[in-house]
Amino acid sequence: MKTYRGGCHCGAVKFVIDAELSQLTRCTCSMCSKKGALFCYVPPDRFRLLQGDNDLTIYRFNTEQAKHIFCKHCGIHSFGHPRSAPDLFLVNVRCLEDFDLENQAYEVDLFDGRNWEAAFKARQRNR
Ligand SMILES: [Zn+2]
Repeated sequence: MKTYRGGCHCGAVKFVIDAELSQLTRCTCSMCSKKGALFCYVPPDRFRLLQGDNDLTIYRFNTEQAKHIFCKHCGIHSFGHPRSAPDLFLVNVRCLEDFDLENQAYEVDLFDGRNWEAAFKARQRNR
């Protein structure tokens, strides 16, 4: 477990997570595929928002259960809460300062969010 600092582009939003970044997730839903985000799941006790509470805003669509959170000023989506596990933080590892995406070893799980119900069922079976 390592501590990583993260945030948006303009610097308004800053947070710290404790995570093991060996297993990342990519999602095919209409939102994530446009954002191109790579995610890790972080339990609430390992996520600390340092600043930016008032700079964040939420976008919802479809069932409106997932919270796609982004910075009001620069538009960067650094974290959110997934529909599949609303209590967890879904952190965009592209927004972590001390994680070198290009040179780190990690596996990427594909979550087929475009077919959310089937993908969720399949993942439950695999656990
Ligand atoms: Zn920002």
